[in-house]
Amino acid sequence: MSVAPVTRFAPSPSGELHLGNVRTALFNWLLARRDAGCFVLRIEDTDAARSRPEHVAQLLEDLRWLGLDWDHGPGAGGPAAPYEQSRRGSLYADALGRLEVAGQVFACYCTPLEIELGRKAQVAAGRPPRYAGTCRELTDGQRAAHQAAGRRPSLRFRVPAGRELAFDDLVHGPQRFRSDDIGDFVVRRADGSASFFFSNALDDGLMGVTHVLRGEDHLSNTPRQLLLLEALGLPAPRYGHLALLVGEGGAPLSKRDGALSVRELRAQGYLPAAILNLLFRLGHSSPLQGLLDPAALARGFDTGHLGRAPAKLDPVQLAGWQREAVQALAADEAAAWLAPAMPAGLDPSQRAEFTAAVRANVLLPRDAALWCDVVFGEPPPPDAAAQAILREAGAAFFAAAAAASEHHARDWPALVAAVKAATGRKGPALFKPLRCALTGLDHGPELAPLLRLMPDGKARERLSRYAH
Ligand code: GLU
Ligand code: ZN
Repeated sequence: MSVAPVTRFAPSPSGELHLGNVRTALFNWLLARRDAGCFVLRIEDTDAARSRPEHVAQLLEDLRWLGLDWDHGPGAGGPAAPYEQSRRGSLYADALGRLEVAGQVFACYCTPLEIELGRKAQVAAGRPPRYAGTCRELTDGQRAAHQAAGRRPSLRFRVPAGRELAFDDLVHGPQRFRSDDIGDFVVRRADGSASFFFSNALDDGLMGVTHVLRGEDHLSNTPRQLLLLEALGLPAPRYGHLALLVGEGGAPLSKRDGALSVRELRAQGYLPAAILNLLFRLGHSSPLQGLLDPAALARGFDTGHLGRAPAKLDPVQLAGWQREAVQALAADEAAAWLAPAMPAGLDPSQRAEFTAAVRANVLLPRDAALWCDVVFGEPPPPDAAAQAILREAGAAFFAAAAAASEHHARDWPALVAAVKAATGRKGPALFKPLRCALTGLDHGPELAPLLRLMPDGKARERLSRYAH
């Protein structure tokens, strides 16, 4: 019987959440939700200079907005609280103390320059550029001399010699590393803070994490973290290293791609369902078609379908999912979504009718501005296509249409019937010129609801413009 998985998302809150991070969060969330497991949110905010409280608050809000809820983490509590690494210093000190007692770490007094020279010496000797082991076997006297000289030591993990470190990556398959290629690495910096390798691995162990899906850039950290977990007597999670998400030019996405931050997308009116459905299929192949709700995404998630090739973020695909997500909104949700684009002073039924009329023609609320102008303000001047159609229909046609609109201004079928009777035109030769005069465009949403919403006299005034 398999145990319910515990997964986690462990962001470093140094900027806005972008789509690459969101995909990592999503995949871990899906894995937990699929198997009735537990999803942990851990804030890796040990870099005091770069982590800001407002970034953390924003991150939590973005995840909530996306619907990626966490069982344990900030605001939710949990058995391994606190979930902010900046508040876990004493746990790190305790664990480091245990490693010290066990002789698995040693104080390193090397300066950055000495370390660099040591690395160069290794390379010159044909070995990997690892820490040279300078301070591994210092005598008490040597240590005292360094201390007396005012040097503050970092703490390094004593990597055992001659070990083979193997693990089965969920994405990349069997991996093998030789411990002899891994230099003794820093677990506590000279300023007393725990290193990323250390706090990240220890916390996964303490939080009972069973599966870690994270960026490929962490693959080479894994053997070190496995050694640490072993030394700490903690179970190791299974790791899966996700292929990079790349931008249009094939370059890695970065937080600098402001347009791709969740904040930005949300502000523009992109919907969570669009973002989640897009990311579900980036680096994860799925036979499932169409817009899926989060529960269906979870049922369809399969770590066996995670790809190794970089996945490309395509704005056209994002637009496609957004289109589906907009269509899937309930009527009241759609009206709320479009509200920022609608003129103030519409009553709820007008809002509902306007929303129903234009939602198939808008991807983002700002696209509705055009249809607001058409209905409540001034339509755009006719473009070339519309002008040709208006000219072809001619002044007499519009004189008849303007006259018909006197009685049927709000009733599109009746207006069309009256113009048809008066002019003998039918089909596109009848509809198109009417549409062009009323909206300035030869395409767009259904006219019946737009006409019902237009203020008195507007339709007639527009039709009359082309009557002479
Ligand atoms: N804080 C790390 C990052 O954002 C976490 C890496 C991991 O998931 O283990 O890259
Ligand atoms: Zn040293």
